[in-house]
Amino acid sequence: MSVPMLRLEGLKKSYGAKRALRGLDLEVPDNEIMALLGPTGAGKSSTLLSAAGSLSLEAGKVFLAGRDVTDIDPSGRDVSIVFEGFNLLPVLDVKDNIAFALRSPTYREDEAEIRTRVGRTAELLRISHLLDRDVDTLSGGERQRVAIARALVRRPKMFLLDEPLSALDLKLREGLRAELRQIHRQHRSTMLYATHDYHGAIAIADRLAIIESGVIQQTGTIDEIIALPANMGVGKLIGSPSMAFFSATVADGWGVLPGGAQKIPLSAFGEARLAPGRKLLFGVWPEDIEVGANDAADANAGSVYAVDNRGFERAVQVNADAGSFRKVVPSEMLFKQGDACSFRIADGAGYLFDAETGARVSHLGGKAR
Ligand code: ADP
Ligand code: MG
Repeated sequence: MSVPMLRLEGLKKSYGAKRALRGLDLEVPDNEIMALLGPTGAGKSSTLLSAAGSLSLEAGKVFLAGRDVTDIDPSGRDVSIVFEGFNLLPVLDVKDNIAFALRSPTYREDEAEIRTRVGRTAELLRISHLLDRDVDTLSGGERQRVAIARALVRRPKMFLLDEPLSALDLKLREGLRAELRQIHRQHRSTMLYATHDYHGAIAIADRLAIIESGVIQQTGTIDEIIALPANMGVGKLIGSPSMAFFSATVADGWGVLPGGAQKIPLSAFGEARLAPGRKLLFGVWPEDIEVGANDAADANAGSVYAVDNRGFERAVQVNADAGSFRKVVPSEMLFKQGDACSFRIADGAGYLFDAETGARVSHLGGKAR
């Protein structure tokens, strides 16, 4: 294993009574794009600010390329951070905004070099035509490009991107995401990309770190996480729609869904000896749930609660006694709101979670892909 570009060790941070980081550990490998995926309030911004050196921590250490930088201030860390809020300087035009860091005491590049670098970076982000404009005349998408250019022009060891595309519309977002990947390929730069958007995260990242309640819940490639999600929280954040959860009770070797015909053989998960009566949640990727034309004797009864038209396909929400789930189905499947329907969980699919703690109980499980 080579030395990770960034290593965070046991970070703790509270804002008043609010514990934002609760002993957070994370490693970002060199030359990778890692997405830090988690809901609002999970601690993503606090994590990035800690890496940048802009947050005073109660505990923990920060290493950059193996060097302990915990006590080094931001200007000595050689990382660039891009915020959702852009942080452009309104009194300067675009080219001076981009050049700003290069003129700072830390860099103090000569003007010819600055001009070359600003020009090249502007080309990369397709904002060459905007260089003489005042930043307050720019659109949201243009501002965001300038903000990224500001960070990029320094060629730091590492980029910290805090929801850099969240404020943009879908088309711009996809375009800029592709450009970020391109920049990453050309410069082999390491990026930690914070987002609450599952699609955005898997589109840009080599690896994901799932964060919730100030702790990293799981890291891995999307395939690894799909194959074995660490806990219920991860299941809720992954997939589109995300994991379905059904309540089940253990009865001699089976997991029984309330009101459901289907019984889940616990031996399939290597967990045949769970205590009878124990309450479980059975998590299943929607891809492993068959809905509609089910004549299997053990199909479960449900009803169609909602149907979202997505053009080529539809997302249906099915409610049943054991739980509800959402799943994408082809448009030809004619579900209407209020229809009765049946569904069946594919044999061998799914994971067992403890109903109280959300921790994964089963060591095996799977399907989907
Ligand atoms: P994220 O970026 O994932 O939304 P943050 O790191 O911004 O998460 O915040 C983590 C938690 O800390 C949230 O509950 C947030 O409300 C709280 N928090 C963040 N910054 C402050 C602050 N300056 N003052 C008080 N609470 C804060
Ligand atoms: Mg944030």
